Amino acid sequence: MTIEPSRTDTRLDPYVDAYAARTNGLQVSAVRALFAVANRPEVVSLAGGMPNIADLPRAELGQTFARLVAEQGVQAMQYGSGQGEGFMREHIVEVMAEEQISAHADDVVITCGSQQALDLVTRVFCDPGDVILAEAPSYVGALGTFHANQCEVVHVAMDEQGVVPEALRQAVLTLRANGRRVKLLYTIPNFHNPSGITQPVSRRQELLAVADEVDLLILEDNPYGLLTLDDEPLPALRAFDAERVIYLGSFSKTFAPGFRIGWTLAPHAVKEKLVLLQEAATLSPPVFGQFAISKYLEDYDWRGQIRKFRDMYRERRDALLAGLAENMPEGTTWTHPRGGFFVWATLPEGLDAQAMLPRAVTARVAYVPGTAFYADGLGSGNMRLSYCFPTPERIIEGTKRLGEVLAGELSMRRTFGVGAAESTRNELSSGLATDLN
Ligand code: PMP
Repeated sequence: MTIEPSRTDTRLDPYVDAYAARTNGLQVSAVRALFAVANRPEVVSLAGGMPNIADLPRAELGQTFARLVAEQGVQAMQYGSGQGEGFMREHIVEVMAEEQISAHADDVVITCGSQQALDLVTRVFCDPGDVILAEAPSYVGALGTFHANQCEVVHVAMDEQGVVPEALRQAVLTLRANGRRVKLLYTIPNFHNPSGITQPVSRRQELLAVADEVDLLILEDNPYGLLTLDDEPLPALRAFDAERVIYLGSFSKTFAPGFRIGWTLAPHAVKEKLVLLQEAATLSPPVFGQFAISKYLEDYDWRGQIRKFRDMYRERRDALLAGLAENMPEGTTWTHPRGGFFVWATLPEGLDAQAMLPRAVTARVAYVPGTAFYADGLGSGNMRLSYCFPTPERIIEGTKRLGEVLAGELSMRRTFGVGAAESTRNELSSGLATDLN
């Protein structure tokens, strides 16, 4: 069938009747919309989650990669295996051992970042209308993938130790009693995006016990686990259970995201399905990236590099926490992450982070409003603040600007009442609408 866009069609999108139903779940990501403004040099962006890779040994890496092309380019620039190259999977087994995972390279499937792993696992397990349980809040990119696959996300309460086991049990039982098919618990046990919370070992064991009891698969997403800032890495959920947990890992934060190399470690039968879907999606995941990362792991002190990343992110995390303590108005609270990139702030009663964003950007500071991390519209009283990218000085400056915005909002509400604050904000938003698109 060919679709001729009609010149007289007054609808916004002339292809609207041609799209598959699954495109209904596609939404513009709040994070993408933000990048346009937040990347301007005058704005301190506490919004994006980009790792800071400027300190990687780039000159040496350049030489390594040049040698790779000269000496092994015929293989490294060729198509490869749908499951990923054997040597890359062997290295990944070694990396996962840092979090006490014992695995076989046969059960690893290489993906185009862990983002593609999220998609493949969703497509292996979920039909349209199936339910995926996720932390409240949860990673915006995963929510996008689940929605693109027409799944419904139901959030499960977190406390300061992560997913609440009893809330998980109740969610599964209630949904099933209502005839819903609950397929997976999607969880980020380490330095959760966006909340910064980490599940202690005891909580991991409690969650696995509930998952056993209600027979639920767990999708463990762990891109940040090695970026621990105060402690040794904790054992992964997968370290305790090889049958119930499908594990996702990534080199994006511990090395560099541009290679787009992530992976899944899955029970053997699941792995077979993942490979078939991976072949259908890509023929083979990025081959050059696998050669390049393998060379990096072989020839460089990658553990030492991770220690350097930890020192750099620790300084930034400490700057953000100190800046918040200094500059946030009373009634604001925030989490104290022990690793990863993110702090989750809760605003004083009545403030709305989404509505306030244009004002913050005018004041040259950006964050991600909490609503981006909920499938159900909650989170307006929260914001995600990331400390990974700006320098400590800029982070402190960002918290000053943010503190002034919050203080201004609070004082407007006190002086003129809620309505006045809303209408001033609306004026500002309409002025900034084009920037925020
Ligand atoms: N999961 C989480 C929790 C993330 O924060 C990210 C990146 N922001 C990803 C998955 C995707 O990472 P990548 O595809 O680069 O491996």
